[in-house]
Amino acid sequence: MKPAPFEYLAPDSLPAALSALAARGWDAKLLAGGQSLIPVMNFRLAQPGLLIDLNRVPGLDGIERTPDGGLRIGAMTRQAQLENDNLVARQVPLLAATVPFIAHPQIRNRGTVGGSLAHADPAAELPAVAVALDARLRLQSVRGERIVAAHDFFLGLFSTALEVDEMLTDLLIPPAPPRTAWVFREVARRHGDYAQLGVAARLSLGEDGRCSAARLVFLSAGDRPVDADAARALIGEAPTAARIDAVAAAVQTELSPGGDIHASAPYKRHLAGVLSRRALTAATAALGIRLGS
Ligand code: FAD
Repeated sequence: MKPAPFEYLAPDSLPAALSALAARGWDAKLLAGGQSLIPVMNFRLAQPGLLIDLNRVPGLDGIERTPDGGLRIGAMTRQAQLENDNLVARQVPLLAATVPFIAHPQIRNRGTVGGSLAHADPAAELPAVAVALDARLRLQSVRGERIVAAHDFFLGLFSTALEVDEMLTDLLIPPAPPRTAWVFREVARRHGDYAQLGVAARLSLGEDGRCSAARLVFLSAGDRPVDADAARALIGEAPTAARIDAVAAAVQTELSPGGDIHASAPYKRHLAGVLSRRALTAATAALGIRLGS
């Protein structure tokens, strides 16, 4: 398949890219790694009149510490870079652990952080991880910039809070409190396939050994990342095997994933329970806790 004819622009500055986007509106599409956009265009599911290639715009990639002790990851940072970056491994181990589950090395070498977030595929790993990390997204346009919480960014299937003239420029990750463990688990038919179901888990312990934060954010479980309320039952409690089992059972009741060609809805609900238990058990182990009942 070949795409419909389109104009191509490769601006060499952010203002030039934003001006072109503002001028052409819905007729324009930003091109990042092209790993989702180009197949969609080849199938003629999208027929933009103009492609604005971000690959020559300076300053859109890079990973750096922020003054609050968090991390800024530029939208054009390749997914593969997260896998091999020492700062990411030290400060955001959840990201480093998750990225190898995205597709295959060739795709991660081109695919970008911003492209994955903006594409908003509910089966993608990075949107769920961004929500679990309480990350924020910087959106820029010729009108200025605004910061949106990842939790509010994903509005539905392939749908985000981005306005027609806005570009996602940065992912901002806050520092994690001490005694926090992060775990990512997913089940896919083959490594590199989109997950039948996956979960990004967070567990933080307070001074008293009780949970001060507990999150389970699922992918492939709805039309956007699904932040399960059931996980919050652990907050204020010491993690035990019985409590983790109770959370896993409650998650199975709470989630209502639709079935698809890869997994039926009942199977996904079953996986949600299994992955909740595995992820929370692994998180407690990472915090040095031996689970009693
Ligand atoms: P592009 O394809 O260039 O763009 C995607 C969309 O985002 C377009 O609408 C584009 O206009 C928009 N966009 C891009 N950058 C910005 C920006 N800065 N601001 C606003 N809008 C922007 N992904 C997974 O998560 N898990 C997988 O298992 C997985 N498997 C895959 C398997 C295959 C065979 C392929 C081809 C892809 C797979 N992907 C998977 C998708 C891959 O991760 C893509 O790289 C990603 O979804 C899009 O990133 P990109 O940089 O290629 O974006």
